[in-house]
Order: sequence, then C-alpha cells, then structure tokens
Amino acid sequence: MKSWCTPLYEGTFSVGMDKKFFSIPRDGNAAKGALKISLNPFLIVNEARVMLIDTGIGSFGEDTGVERLFENLERHGIADYEVTDIFMSHLHYDHMGGLAHQNSGFWELSFPEAKLWVSKDDWARVMAKEEFYDAEKTEFIAFLDARADLHFLEAEDQPYPEMRVERIGGHTQYHQAIWYKDEDLNLLMAGDVIATRGQVNRVFAAKYDFDPEQSKQQRVRLAREAYELGATILAYHDEECSMFRIVGHDARRGYVTEPVSGGRP
Ligand SMILES: [Zn+2]
Repeated sequence: MKSWCTPLYEGTFSVGMDKKFFSIPRDGNAAKGALKISLNPFLIVNEARVMLIDTGIGSFGEDTGVERLFENLERHGIADYEVTDIFMSHLHYDHMGGLAHQNSGFWELSFPEAKLWVSKDDWARVMAKEEFYDAEKTEFIAFLDARADLHFLEAEDQPYPEMRVERIGGHTQYHQAIWYKDEDLNLLMAGDVIATRGQVNRVFAAKYDFDPEQSKQQRVRLAREAYELGATILAYHDEECSMFRIVGHDARRGYVTEPVSGGRP
C-alpha cells in the first residue's frame, strides 16, 4: 500500500474580538472587524498507522461539532477507532477541539484507540494553569490529561522512523514543526508558523505570536528547508490550498509555489 495524505477541511469561520468561531461559506466574508479563518486538520495513512495532525475546533465552534471531522474521515473510509496516532503542533483550542466531545452528555475521547503525541513541556505548561481559557475547556483538558493515551515529545524527537518533530517556538512557547518522510510522502506541518500558502512569501512579525521575531526567523528557515528538501507544506489555516510545494525561487517574486493534491492514490 502506498501512503497518502489529505487535508480534512473543517470549515471557514468568522472570528471576532470575543474569539468565538462562527461558520461562514468558504468564499464568504468575515463579519465587520472579524478575521476569516479556515481550519484543516491533516490525515496521513501508511501501512502501519492512521495519523492525524491537529484536530480542528470540534465542539468549541459556535455552530459546529466534532461530527465534521468524523464525516470527513468517513469520506476517506476511516472510522474513529481506526485512528492510531494524533500529533499536536501546539495546544490552542482551534487545533485540539476535535480530541474530545460531550455528544452523549459526558466527555468522551473522539479517537479512543489513538496515542496522543504532545510536547512534554507544552503539556506541563498547560497543566500548571488554573484555567485553560474557560470552565468548559478546563474540564476538557483535565479529561484529556486523565483519559487520553498521552505520549510526550522532547524538543527534538522521532517517535517513528517516518515522523520527526522539532521544537520551533514562535507562535507559542513550545510550538512544534512536524516532518514526515517515507517512500511516497515528504511533508512539513509547521502549524501556525507557516499557516497559509501566502506566508512563505511574507516576512512579518505578528502581534498574535508568543515570540514574533522567533516565529519570523523559523518561518524563513522552514520555508527554505522545505524548498531544499522538496517537502510539501501542510498549511492548517489556508482557505484554498492547504497542501503546496515550493518549486522555485526568483529574486523579484520570491518563492514560486504550486498546489499538491492529496487523497488516497
Ligand atoms: Zn491556529
């Protein structure tokens, strides 16, 4: 079997000052003063494993639930219990909401058989907090701490031969970049450090980052490395093209990118 990867487009949202996520059409406009944010968890399937990278907002959206993720997986012939591993780029709720739900009135793991791979230091940081965003999310994270099959990643780690993780910081203190390589796939998922296709050609320091300068430097380095290594970049927040490759560089226009189509071969 060949390995394959696909985005699991969860939706596009209008996110205002109150940080609430309201679904809007993919080609729609955000509310006045709000940001337009798309969410794309990624599915990677190989001979040995069925893996997710980040899990979307799940039931933390205003008008959405983890069903969208389940439906997207079903469309690719994958059931919830078949997911073997989940890797988290960082612990923001729009990236981890799909890990658990209360569809039956109590907290349940969305992927009961999956190992949950997180940065050890990031998990410790979150656990040390009195409150994780609000009362509901504090319950959510405590439930995961008690019940998920947690596996901790070091700053440099290689949990599987095909999977390599490095701490890059920037967007959050312990943010991770996830590299995947086998005979069929060569991927980089850098979470919110390279969140959209357009970001590889914008040198910027963003106020929303924990360490804007670090984020900027890592973005430049990772884009260059992905180009040199021929890795496909998985862009979690891209609206149109969440898998792309850098195929060239020109002094005037910067990187030339092209879409990569995912899916089962
Ligand atoms: Zn994000």
